[in-house]
Amino acid sequence: MKWGDFEIDLISDGTFRLDGGAMFGVVPKVFWERVSPPDEKNRIKLGLNCLLVRGNGKSVLIDTGCGFKYSSRELEIYGIEHESTVFDDLAKLGVAAADIDFVINTHLHFDHCGGNTVQKDEGFEPSFPNATYVVQRQEFEDASHPSERTQASYFKENWNPLVERGQLELLDGEHTVCEGIVGIPTPGHTLGHQSVKIQSGGETLFFLGDLCPTSAHVPLPWIMSYDLYPALTLETRKEVYRQAVRESWTLFFDHDPGTLLGRLSEKDGRYRAETMPWEA
Ligand SMILES: [Zn+2]
Repeated sequence: MKWGDFEIDLISDGTFRLDGGAMFGVVPKVFWERVSPPDEKNRIKLGLNCLLVRGNGKSVLIDTGCGFKYSSRELEIYGIEHESTVFDDLAKLGVAAADIDFVINTHLHFDHCGGNTVQKDEGFEPSFPNATYVVQRQEFEDASHPSERTQASYFKENWNPLVERGQLELLDGEHTVCEGIVGIPTPGHTLGHQSVKIQSGGETLFFLGDLCPTSAHVPLPWIMSYDLYPALTLETRKEVYRQAVRESWTLFFDHDPGTLLGRLSEKDGRYRAETMPWEA
């Protein structure tokens, strides 16, 4: 897809499954099952959608999917299926791991940074040897000191090798990673969560991250139970949505299994997304 001066490609790490009830929080199943039909274990299928943004002489990967460091039990629990992988999708575009200049992690849950590193012999190495990886400092601190509630999503091997090699850059708030690509704090899912704003030619593409993981989650109260600060998610969404409507942003949904892009409209305080085609 052309986006002003940028070339933007979908990079998919396949799909996984999470409990539908947990994915839709306080929303009764009678509502969510119509838009996201669950499997026999009440799980819904989710995409692991990442983006490659190339332009202004830089190649930037936003999120790295779930990667491969899982036991057969974890693969089963999370229903991880690598119909595609970050590395295969990059290779199809002729992009080598060494070509990536920046990796932006929205946050450090395993389904967003699992591809940051690869297992080599006894240890782990950065998957992208020449990349600077960027994440909000708050997220790094929280991931490094998880609680009983958050520890199941945070695996140190996804970032420790980056720290050891000096490849991790910690951000304190809004930060231009490179021309036209800005990390924007969007707290709620985690305190240090960030979204990514990509701007060129007067158009804005907004990588929501888990602020709003699928097009079904667009209505304000459709907030995941996984969110650590759901009331903060609501406030952040209101702020982002208002701006998205005012400036006609195109939104990118990181966990939608089908709809990748949407544009918001608002009526009487209710938001809905009009889905948009991916124009190759
Ligand atoms: Zn996620």
